[in-house]
Amino acid sequence: MTQTITVIRGDGIGPEIMDATLFVLDKLGAGLSYEFADAGLAALEKHGELIPAGTLESIKKNKVALKSPLTTPVGGGFSSINVALRRQFDLYANVRPAISFPNTKSRYENINMITVRENTEGAYLAEGQEVSADGETAFSGTRITRKGSERIVRYAFELAKSTGRKKVTAVHKANIIKSTSGLFLDVAREVAAKYPEIEFQEMIVDNACMQLVMRPEQFDIIVTTNLFGDIISDLCAGLVGGLGLAPGANIGVDVAIFEAVHGTAPDIAGQGKANPVALLLGAAQMLDHVGQPENAERLRKAIVATMEAKDSLTGDLGGTGTTMGFAQAIASRL
Ligand code: ATP
Ligand code: MG
Repeated sequence: MTQTITVIRGDGIGPEIMDATLFVLDKLGAGLSYEFADAGLAALEKHGELIPAGTLESIKKNKVALKSPLTTPVGGGFSSINVALRRQFDLYANVRPAISFPNTKSRYENINMITVRENTEGAYLAEGQEVSADGETAFSGTRITRKGSERIVRYAFELAKSTGRKKVTAVHKANIIKSTSGLFLDVAREVAAKYPEIEFQEMIVDNACMQLVMRPEQFDIIVTTNLFGDIISDLCAGLVGGLGLAPGANIGVDVAIFEAVHGTAPDIAGQGKANPVALLLGAAQMLDHVGQPENAERLRKAIVATMEAKDSLTGDLGGTGTTMGFAQAIASRL
């Protein structure tokens, strides 16, 4: 049975990198069929809304979406489309791999890790924020729940199992923030005990930052709360050479949305200059998610080989190739 996924071609460089990505997925023989849906500026122009009901229905029905970057128009009271999608589908896990690729300007060559960030609670939400009338005192609340912690840590361990990874590191600050970070760590230990075949490590967030910069190769999967995950996942993207190579997934109980971390890059849109690799790596995450880890690995290996050979690389990687030319070079190495 072929699996249908919702495809959102997006704004700016979105359509170009999506065409390139679908070209490679077809060559891979992933057996997916695509239901195209609009969101962002493209949807606003066509349907008068940023996220039309039909798009939400399509995602709800197919449960898996591959999404290009979207423009949220500034002004006009529009709130972020990504935040709206996260709320709508309770996408509690933000999953960001950081993998070293050859011939990039980065400090390390041996990184292969995934950050699993809790996405629905914690300090990042800044619940009940207030500033006193005299402006001298400010307050912001942090709520951590057993349920929220349990499902994110379980997701991290299940991801380790399904992708053959060996270690999960829970990053916390439970020594100081005993209440909230303490609850997260307690639950992490309980969940870890159910996965004896996977190594469990605990690390205080400040030490984790130092270790990430000094010896990043020791990490496999990091699981952490919302605010720490926000910071650490960007740190990790920086360790492996930045935006053009950074994919992400937003995972919920029923629905998962896969994407590139970068934006719509209007400065190079429509010129065939965009690097399709971030979205391709998002597609690789999607293949892992839909039970095609072998195809995901074939895709990643073909990307590595193409970059190793410096074949048709786009401008951001120091080449002169086009978006589609790069995709063809990758497809030829599958
Ligand atoms: P948005 O408002 O949608 O976030 P942006 O202009 O901030 O758009 P980003 O995607 O965040 O765009 O990109 C920042 C810079 O990185 C831009 O100069 C852009 O051209 C470049 N860039 C981003 N993604 C890519 C890509 N896939 N390939 C090549 N360059 C990219
Ligand atoms: Mg941006």
